[in-house]
Amino acid sequence: MRANCWMGRNHVEVRDVPDPRILNSRDAIVRITSTAICGSDLHLYDGYIPTMKKGDVLGHEFMGEVVETGPDVTGLRAGDRVVVPFPIACGACDACEHGLYSVCENSNPNAGMAEKVMGYSPAGIFGYSHMLGGFAGGQAEYARVPFADVGPIKIEDDLPDEQVLFLSDIFPTGWMGAEMCDITPGDVIAVWGAGPVGQFAIASAFLMGAERVIAIDRIPYRLDKAERAGAEVLDYERTDVLDALRDMTAGRGPDACIDAVGIEAHHPAPLMYGYDRAKQATRTETDRPFALREAIMACRNGGVVSVVGVYGGFVDKFPMGSLMNRSITLRGAQCHVQRYLRPLLERIRAGDIDPGFVISHRMPLEDAPHGYEIFRQKEDDCLKVVLTP
Ligand code: NAD
Ligand code: ZN
Ligand code: ZN
Repeated sequence: MRANCWMGRNHVEVRDVPDPRILNSRDAIVRITSTAICGSDLHLYDGYIPTMKKGDVLGHEFMGEVVETGPDVTGLRAGDRVVVPFPIACGACDACEHGLYSVCENSNPNAGMAEKVMGYSPAGIFGYSHMLGGFAGGQAEYARVPFADVGPIKIEDDLPDEQVLFLSDIFPTGWMGAEMCDITPGDVIAVWGAGPVGQFAIASAFLMGAERVIAIDRIPYRLDKAERAGAEVLDYERTDVLDALRDMTAGRGPDACIDAVGIEAHHPAPLMYGYDRAKQATRTETDRPFALREAIMACRNGGVVSVVGVYGGFVDKFPMGSLMNRSITLRGAQCHVQRYLRPLLERIRAGDIDPGFVISHRMPLEDAPHGYEIFRQKEDDCLKVVLTP
């Protein structure tokens, strides 16, 4: 089959790879009809995650048709149309029983690698490095889906792919980012990052009753999109974000702050300097605001900082004094997608939201390298790329 493969830093290639096969009695094989490129894929693309190997199949946001099931898969059969959540979860361990699917205790065969850097291991994730299981991803014609009786949700034929594809990740992730803020009517929520995840966090915060949402980014077309969704916007390159947020909230700060940026706001920023390594090497961390630090400093006393942006390894110069002295609660998670599939599918059915609003580009799987390039460089007003195998 054809699949989009990681070939090194800033290099992906669509190649011929072996078709996936059922390896475990609870596996299913899914023929992929739609798959997307995520901001999380950019961390791999930029080489921030060291446990990638040349030829690894990328992609963790996908849906399609079940073509084969292992003998122990109940509730799914060939012909079913499904959306597949990005974390792989067994459904039966202590974590899964508590709804903490993204920290399933049974789905990462390489847990030892993750334990070395994180203490304990989170769940396996499709197409997301060997540390997180080494599972082939869904930017491909077919994928093997472990624990297929737990994760995938069946979708009726009346809803097109574009309305349901993002149940696999970014809609639940934005939703969870807002949910972690314990929003009560009247709240002011600030969201760092107006990428696809930030856009869903904004929409979700409004659906949960936030009175005002303030979006922070530097990219005009992304800020425009946030503004059209009802948010007030701040360009962090033109404004002192901390001062502006203070002014906009009568001197108290937003009730909760969502970090929908992640690691790229901390590490040297190829986004600003293209692929110029010399500039990256001389760039200091202070050239650019570190979103999480800013979110903590901005949050009102007693508020919540909700982190859905992805981080790896250690992050230093953390304003612990501000967090501790001002009663701030810090929360973060890879999304427990399985928890949100049914309620959010109902929201889509009810017409509360059409998740397709983030799609800016549609292209064949073969054009994945171009898709990565424009999504990475934020060119051509690229907000979200959907690939069709
Ligand atoms: P994206 O790269 O399209 O968007 C990130 C946005 O942040 C960009 O628009 C960028 O301009 C902006 N940004 C960069 N530095 C900033 C700063 N200092 N202040 C404010 N904005 C800044 O990515 P995305 O697809 O929207 O994903 C966002 C983050 O969410 C990524 O880290 C991704 O890995 C993560 N993610 C997490 C989960 C989860 O389960 N927790 C799921 C999906 C994605
Ligand atoms: Zn994703
Ligand atoms: Zn489990």
